[in-house]
Amino acid sequence: MRVYLDNNATTIVDPQVKTVMDPFFCQYYGNPNSLHAFASDTHIDLNRSLEKIYAGINAPKEDSVVVTSCATESNNWVLKSIYFDYILTGRKNHIIISEVEHPSIIATARFLESLGTKVTYLPINSEGLIEAHTIRDFITDKTALVSIMWANNETGAIFPIEEIAEICQEKGVLFHTDAVQAIGKVPVNMQELKVDYLTFSAHKFHGPKGIGALYMRKGKELKPLLHGGEHMGGLRSGTLNVPGIVGMGKAMELAVDSLMFDMPDVKALRDHLEDELLKINDTFVVTPREKRTHNTMLISFRGIEGEAMLWDLNKAGIGASTGSACASEDLESNPVMEAIGAEADLAHTAIRFSLSRFTTKEEVDYTIGVVHEAVKRLRGISSSYAYTPKDHVSEL
Ligand code: PLP
Repeated sequence: MRVYLDNNATTIVDPQVKTVMDPFFCQYYGNPNSLHAFASDTHIDLNRSLEKIYAGINAPKEDSVVVTSCATESNNWVLKSIYFDYILTGRKNHIIISEVEHPSIIATARFLESLGTKVTYLPINSEGLIEAHTIRDFITDKTALVSIMWANNETGAIFPIEEIAEICQEKGVLFHTDAVQAIGKVPVNMQELKVDYLTFSAHKFHGPKGIGALYMRKGKELKPLLHGGEHMGGLRSGTLNVPGIVGMGKAMELAVDSLMFDMPDVKALRDHLEDELLKINDTFVVTPREKRTHNTMLISFRGIEGEAMLWDLNKAGIGASTGSACASEDLESNPVMEAIGAEADLAHTAIRFSLSRFTTKEEVDYTIGVVHEAVKRLRGISSSYAYTPKDHVSEL
């Protein structure tokens, strides 16, 4: 059996999305900016797809939703444009991000730091959550931007975006949220939220890879990051990815429906998996369930290296994630586990299971059996678990 439980990394393209994209590869392949019928053949579908994207986040018509190649581009765009407009010009010198942002924010912030920007890395608490009021302590009259993700990719922790946005507005500071892990998991309503910029990416909600977007509130438009043949109101260059936009539109429509219709089932499956895995001794989950996205669980099995568990899972056909930098030569611990201050031996044991509306009960039951067996096997050969004192069953 093959079981995919790594949906926070990417998702299967919904077959309905694939169907609507298909004609735009070999039939309607014109460049929308050309001056002939091959171009205009694409216009109706492009416009309809953009309307679906606006509708999915309830964005007012006058605001901009600019299509990008991915969330990494959208996140880079926000931070670098703010640098050019506010920091390089000397008007401001400071940005605030959380210490558990995606690398596309953290690495960009570090780069800007190397150019002289002051960066505050807002801490999370022991439950992996951000307390909105703490932002107040860090905002100064030199703060140009606050950028805090909506939902964390590792733990699923949902951050208090509404409150943070209110604080930023009150203090006159621009606010960006990386909503990559929020679309299809929490309702997004740009008519109500006081967010200036919002990032998302189609492949996280059953759309195609290579297409994302950046929402910008009217009057807060950023200078383009890419120049040369600007389109989308002059905000971005590069030939439009027509199949991608059509796919993202359909995927957004389905994600909004799914929030209503599939969320209870996905949550029930995630809770079942979690309940059964927590029956194993010395096992811990970060962030209370009600404060997490309904599909995600970051779980630690004391005494078992995350990579060793992944190996056993992979052999049994199950795809999950450790969230650590497996590609590096040093096996780094999970960054969120480190940020919450987990003991060193637990920080290396985290495994992330992330489900989707395509996950079945049969797959979850199979996974439960495989994990129980893997824990028995791996703890049997784990020197660190063997030496853990019996009464050492601490909280994280
Ligand atoms: N932001 C978050 C929270 C993510 O989880 C990811 C992908 O894992 C990204 C940004 C980057 O997305 P993309 O692959 O579209 O660049």
